[in-house]
Amino acid sequence: MKIVVCVNHVPDTEARIKIGADGKGIDKSGITYILNPYDEIAVEQGLRLKEKFGGEVIAISLGGESNKETLRKTLAMGADKAILLKDESDRDSFSVAKALSDNLKEINSDIILFGKQSIDFDNSQLPGLVAEMLNLPSVSVVVKLEIENNQVVCEREIEGGHEKVESRLPVVLSVQKGLCEPRYPSLKGIMAAKTKLIEEKPVISNSKKVEIVSLRLPASKGTGKIVGTEPTAAKELVRLLHEEAKII
Ligand SMILES: Cc1cc2nc3c(=O)[nH]c(=O)nc-3n(C[C@H](O)[C@H](O)[C@H](O)COP(=O)(O)OP(=O)(O)OC[C@H]3O[C@@H](n4cnc5c(N)ncnc54)[C@H](O)[C@@H]3O)c2cc1C
Repeated sequence: MKIVVCVNHVPDTEARIKIGADGKGIDKSGITYILNPYDEIAVEQGLRLKEKFGGEVIAISLGGESNKETLRKTLAMGADKAILLKDESDRDSFSVAKALSDNLKEINSDIILFGKQSIDFDNSQLPGLVAEMLNLPSVSVVVKLEIENNQVVCEREIEGGHEKVESRLPVVLSVQKGLCEPRYPSLKGIMAAKTKLIEEKPVISNSKKVEIVSLRLPASKGTGKIVGTEPTAAKELVRLLHEEAKII
């Protein structure tokens, strides 16, 4: 089975984000980047499919030179091959999807795995866009997966329950927490990943359709008010919540 996992290189959730000088992007200096957590689940699922059916796992990422750190992590987890679609020009989800799908067409895989969303820009658009561009079925937010004789049975997380859907290979899936627990790379895997080659491919076209106008941080929280520390303060707290905050 030929399994492709699309992975993104995103700021660590602990990173303190600052707006860049142009007011349209983030200031990347001093930020630690990680493999997008949902994509870690996708890599794990890819490895489990390979363990069950044989074949290979190919990780692919679009971005700059630093995306190699993330690709290196997928190799350390056990991916067989990594491809960097190298480009740092401003992109929107559509142009990222177009570049990915142009390359995915050549790979001709049985299954293409994505995280359900990228924790940086949170668009949740790529899996659907790529599936449409490749004319493949797609299932989103997958929390359970079974594949037998080219038949794909997935459970999706929906509001208040799970939905069971069927499709056939080849298919595009986006995965959600709960599907499987990502493995830690072993020391052997980390050492092996250091010597594995990351294939680089330039991406020339940029079919961007959405322009970022501005970016701003959320308003900072106002200062708190301590009403008192004794039990008698409860009465005043209730009064303030009722009369000033008007939330009870
Ligand atoms: C080179 C480059 C330049 C960019 N420039 C800008 C910019 O100037 N301003 C700005 O606001 N945004 C920029 N972006 C972000 C871009 O607009 C998209 O938002 C982002 O690439 C995809 O995030 P998303 O929120 O659409 O992904 P989602 O659709 O939320 O991601 C879902 C899944 O898609 C996969 N995925 C996401 N990104 C990639 C990737 N790069 N490679 C492979 N798989 C991926 C992962 O599996 C992820 O879990 C840039 C991105 C790239 C790659």
